[in-house]
Amino acid sequence: MTIKSVRGTHDLLPESVQLWQRIEASARRLFELYGYAEVRTPIFEQTELFARTIGSDSDIVQKEMYTFSDSKGKSISLRPEGTAPVMRANLEHGLYHDGGIHKLYYIGPMFRHERPQKGRYRQFHQVGAEVLGSDHPALEAEVIDMLDRFLEELGATGLRLLVNSVGCPTCRPGYVKLLREELSKRQDDLCPQCQRRSETNPLRVLDCKVPACQPVIDELPSILEHLCENCRQHFESFRAYLGHHKIHYEVVPRLVRGLDYYVGTTFEMVSSKLGPTQNAVVGGGRYDGLSQLLGGPPVQGFGFALGIERLVVLLEETQDSQLPRPDIFLAYLDEQALEESLQLAQELRRQEIFAYIDFQGRSLKAQMRLANRLNSRFTCIIGEEERKSGEFPLKRMEDGHQVTLKRKAIASYVRGNHGPTR
Ligand SMILES: [Zn+2]
Ligand SMILES: [Zn+2]
Repeated sequence: MTIKSVRGTHDLLPESVQLWQRIEASARRLFELYGYAEVRTPIFEQTELFARTIGSDSDIVQKEMYTFSDSKGKSISLRPEGTAPVMRANLEHGLYHDGGIHKLYYIGPMFRHERPQKGRYRQFHQVGAEVLGSDHPALEAEVIDMLDRFLEELGATGLRLLVNSVGCPTCRPGYVKLLREELSKRQDDLCPQCQRRSETNPLRVLDCKVPACQPVIDELPSILEHLCENCRQHFESFRAYLGHHKIHYEVVPRLVRGLDYYVGTTFEMVSSKLGPTQNAVVGGGRYDGLSQLLGGPPVQGFGFALGIERLVVLLEETQDSQLPRPDIFLAYLDEQALEESLQLAQELRRQEIFAYIDFQGRSLKAQMRLANRLNSRFTCIIGEEERKSGEFPLKRMEDGHQVTLKRKAIASYVRGNHGPTR
C-alpha cells in the first residue's frame, strides 16, 4: 500500500501554489511599505511558552497542541500560534531596549490537533504582523488599513470588519463580575460548556456559537458600557482614525478574547462564505500584558494573524489557478539543434526570460502541441538553417505574427511584446 499524507495536512501542488505565492508576495511587498520587517522564529518552542501565554487550562494547550518530550525529557510543542514566539524573540534579543517601535511580520505554518474541516487543517498557515512599543490608536487603525489594502489587492471581497474594546485591568474585572452575576441567573438556559465557563471565564460565554445560548448572550450587559475613561477614549479615538482611513466597521460588543493579557482594541474580519462558525479570516488585538507574562518588562503590542487556508477558500472562487506560462518555447528539429536551443535558452534565462525546452524527444508536431498546451507566448523552431544563419523565426502564438531576429535581439523583443494577457 502506498503511504498517504497525515490527516489534517495537505499538499500544495503547483496549480494552487501560485495563489499562495501571490498572497505571500503581496504581504511582503505591502507590509514593507508600512514599515514592517520579517521575523522568522522556530517551528517548535518550549511548551511553557504557550502554557503561560494561552493558559495551561485552555483547549489549545490541553488538547490541540502537538507536544512531545525531546531526548533530554524537555517538553517541546509545535507552535499553535505566532504572537507568543515573536514576543519571546523580542525579549530574548532585547529589541525593546532602544525604546522604539518595532513592526514585525511573519509567514509560516502553525499546528493544532483539531477536527479537520473546510479551510481548517492541523498544519495551517498564517500571515501575521505585530507592532511592539506603542499603544497609539492611530497605529491600530494603520494596521487595519494595511490589512484592508492587502485583502483588496488580492481580490478578497465581502469581508466585514468587526471591532470592540475588551477593557483593561482597571475596568474589566468589574464587568466580568457583573457578567458572572447575570449568567448565574440563566444557568438553565445555557449549554453545558457555558455553564462551566460562566464560573471559570465568563467572557468566553460571549464567544459561544451554540444556538440555544444566543438569546441569553443577546441580553447580557455590553462591555462598552463598563469601560473606564481611558479605555473609552482610546476606543473612540481608534474609531475616529478608522473613519480617517474611510474604513467601514461594525462595533460588536460580544467580540472578546478570553485571555487576560488582551486589553483595549480587538477586531476580526469575517466572511459569510466560510460558514456560520468558522467565518473569521483575520483576528487581532492589543496584548499589552503579554510581555510581563513571559517575565519581561511592560511592552505594548498590537497585531493580527490571518489564516491563509481560509483566505484561499475566499479567493479560489474568483480566480483560476494556472501554471506559469512560458515566454518562449524553443522547438528543435534534431540533436544539433537541441544543443543550439540549450545555449539560447541559457542566454534568455539569464535575461529573465522563461524559455521552455522539451526533453522527451517529441516530433516537431508534438512539440508544437505541447507549446500550445502550455500557452507559451512565443515559439521558435530551430533547425540547421537557423544554426548556420544565426537568425531565428519567432512566432507570436496569440495571432500568428512572425518575425526573424538575430539571437541577441530575442530577449528584448519578447520582453517588449508582453501582449494583453500579461
Ligand atoms: Zn479600562
Ligand atoms: Zn454556550
